[in-house]
Amino acid sequence: MKKNEQFTVTIEDFSSEGLGIGKTDAGFVWFIKDTVIGDTVLAAATKVKKNYGFARLVKVLKKSEFRAEPPCPIAGKCGGCQLQQMSYEAQLKFKKDKVYNDLLRIGDVEKEVLDKTFEPVVGMADPFRYRNKAQFPIARNKEGRIIAGFYAGRTHSVIECEDCLLGVKENKIILDKIIAWMERYDIDPYDEASGKGLVRHVLIRKGFKSGELMVCLVINGRSLPCKEELVKELCGVSVDSLSFSVNTERTNVIMGTTIVDIYGPGYIEDFIGNIKFRISPLSFYQVNPVQTEQMYGAALEFADLEGTENVWDLYCGIGTISLFMSQKAKKVYGVEIIPEAIRDAKQNAELNGITNAEFYVGAAEEVLPEWYKQHPEERIDVVCVDPPRKGCDERALATIVDMAPEKLVYVSCDPATLARDVKYLRNHGYELKRVRPVDNFSQTVHVETVVLMSKVGVEYA
Ligand code: SAH
Repeated sequence: MKKNEQFTVTIEDFSSEGLGIGKTDAGFVWFIKDTVIGDTVLAAATKVKKNYGFARLVKVLKKSEFRAEPPCPIAGKCGGCQLQQMSYEAQLKFKKDKVYNDLLRIGDVEKEVLDKTFEPVVGMADPFRYRNKAQFPIARNKEGRIIAGFYAGRTHSVIECEDCLLGVKENKIILDKIIAWMERYDIDPYDEASGKGLVRHVLIRKGFKSGELMVCLVINGRSLPCKEELVKELCGVSVDSLSFSVNTERTNVIMGTTIVDIYGPGYIEDFIGNIKFRISPLSFYQVNPVQTEQMYGAALEFADLEGTENVWDLYCGIGTISLFMSQKAKKVYGVEIIPEAIRDAKQNAELNGITNAEFYVGAAEEVLPEWYKQHPEERIDVVCVDPPRKGCDERALATIVDMAPEKLVYVSCDPATLARDVKYLRNHGYELKRVRPVDNFSQTVHVETVVLMSKVGVEYA
């Protein structure tokens, strides 16, 4: 088969990146974007290798029962969502299968064990408009009009879209005001090709519980003209904090490190559970606050603390899990590699009057063994880990095994590395007790999982 040649195929499987998989003669495998299991489609080859190829969807000939009409007009182009063409129910099934199969195949967990420990995926009541943060590049379109939107998948051309359906409705209202202000005062958007122009990105964050709104303009300069006029415009739409971030580098990195406050206190506040967080333009904060509460609520439920326990929270970020757990534990230790995140964690502890949480900056695989060497007598009852996609470093896992906590709560954003680490832990005296996937990123292929493991031989009520 040659490039652009068309063929008919039925989609039978789905890759973890969200591509439909179908087979033609002699087992030749095709990966086709924007399709769903059960579709029969007309596709056109885009790349042909020896045993497999990629193709683009030309037309759906027979619709799968799992198909949904993508509500976003640019769903196919933007690349941010991979599953909008799938009904939400099918998305949850896809995520369940992904976690289940990784634990089965990579983790070598027996089917009987999985069937006993696996819980339903925690889905969203409304799988749209869940993101509390958005970053829009600003550009000029071919007609010379200023637009805000998204980069077309893997490119640097901006597709106009002020109302991403994963984001809040306020995004569009705020962007309209900013663009009108730019047009009125002749303020140019940044142009990547020439390195000229001022406004590069607009960052918008909303506290879902507090209702507070933050706007930060990323600019290619050190000062912002016509500030008062902008403040007036944005106060009219209830923005609580306005700042700009200086980024004069020719780089893909969005935010610059210098933040200049123009209006408001320089931060907004929000809650996850009953813990208050102070969020400034550069702070990390979970982007789906509703499901984060589900996820960390599951971690807390699995840890089942009584108030006497000592807990370690590895990869603690700004301390969300640590602070959640500290209310029910005797003592919580957190470790995180990014110093600014630990600064925020300490500040958040203080903000909430929490005094039994202690934070360390450094790599979990270095800080934990060192701490253990110095505190061999201190009993650790629960270890919680929430590592990045690559999972836990084996040195961290080995130290956990040495420390022998009764319970280990693993919060994972990548089922494949979770499965690898579960395998290691099962080979070192831990058993799998509970697996609960949480849909934190509806419409995308990502899935979070909260797992409870316990030391073999320890029984609980
Ligand atoms: N629970 C956290 C988020 C965890 S995300 C929160 O709610 O804030 C994973 C974190 O691991 C990130 O903050 C990342 O900076 C950190 N990290 C990455 N590698 C690390 C390592 N080797 N040791 C410690 N932390 C690490």
